Amino acid sequence: MSHSSDQAGPGGVERFETRLVRFEACPGDPHRATATPIYQTATFEQESALEFGEYDYTRSGNPTRAVLERQLAALDGGGRALAFASGLAALTAATRLLEPGDELVAGDDLYGGAYRLFARVASERGVRVRYADLADPEAAERAIGPRTRLVHVESPTNPLLRIVDLRRLASVCRRQGARLLVDSTAMSPYLQRPLELGADIVLHSATKLLNGHGDVTAGALVVRDGELGERLAWTQNAEGAGLAPLESFLLLRGLKTLAVRVDRQQRTALEVARFLEGHPLVGQVRFPGLAGHTGRAVHERQASGPGVVLSFQTGDVPTSARLVEGLRRFSIAVSFGSVQSTASLPCRMSHASIPSEVRAARRLPEDLVRLSIGLEAAEDLIADLERAIGEAAAGRRPEPAAAEASGAAF
Ligand code: PLP
Repeated sequence: MSHSSDQAGPGGVERFETRLVRFEACPGDPHRATATPIYQTATFEQESALEFGEYDYTRSGNPTRAVLERQLAALDGGGRALAFASGLAALTAATRLLEPGDELVAGDDLYGGAYRLFARVASERGVRVRYADLADPEAAERAIGPRTRLVHVESPTNPLLRIVDLRRLASVCRRQGARLLVDSTAMSPYLQRPLELGADIVLHSATKLLNGHGDVTAGALVVRDGELGERLAWTQNAEGAGLAPLESFLLLRGLKTLAVRVDRQQRTALEVARFLEGHPLVGQVRFPGLAGHTGRAVHERQASGPGVVLSFQTGDVPTSARLVEGLRRFSIAVSFGSVQSTASLPCRMSHASIPSEVRAARRLPEDLVRLSIGLEAAEDLIADLERAIGEAAAGRRPEPAAAEASGAAF
């Protein structure tokens, strides 16, 4: 796979890894701090009642967030980025581009919270929402028409890890006059930069890989074009969903280690995926790094690595539940992309907000187990899985029994 792109910087062409740590962290700082200060202030004093400085009120703009936004734009190859209080706040701002009567086409394997936002918030504003398997190019051609204003897609999708040909989808969108928004959370700009593939908007739940430490919720939108950036910035201020200074600082800190974290985590993820693939009690291992993964060739053209998330099946829900509950080196948690490994049952947790009949129609297996691989040693994770799979298959529950998984509120 090709690796991180080069970009011209002040000292010539710089690799992505260099740009993660060498950027203008403290513009105008009189003390020449090397880490971005946290401007923990709500307001900024004005020279006079009629003269405004660069900043006046943190909801509208804050120097710490501004450094983060410039860095996010640069890393994704965009002209402008906006940082939000969460990935869903970022997605909400993007859906504000739609007027009542406009059509939104979304990929049908998507994060449960995005589904709920489309079904319960955007639809109630009069936006017409349709779903299609956008990993199938013919289905995508059929679904996107002249009334479509926005197309929302993940690649790889979550949790089925389906691969969408983003370049091809971008050209369908362009032909129909629709904007393409790619939720690239599972990849981060280190592995995939959708603006370079023709997308109009990139969305990240920065809660995941970008921050990487499981201690911040944040989201980002990155766009190429100034006018679109201005509209989204207007919404960010009008709706008050911008990221706070402390979280902006934490995210800037987490971002610096993105490449080393992802390199190591995805190497371990491949080892775990190969172990699971060879295990007689495990079925349908989905991971873009595996040779037989559907769409792998497309993924390799548009991304430089498989990521850190994989999923598999056990054959029935009780076995999957016992397995997840029996793991000791994975936290049972809804998120992914952290330095700590997590395990989840998407249908009961992150995707519980998708009604069960919709999940069934989309062939989202109820027994699906999703793993996010962290920085633990591969051997430790594999040993933990081997034991937990054996115990789960034998029908043994861990003692004491973990609480019933229920994540409908996420
Ligand atoms: N997009 C994807 C792919 C996600 O998995 C999530 C959350 O899990 C979101 C968006 C929403 O992000 P957040 O939880 O930061 O609001």
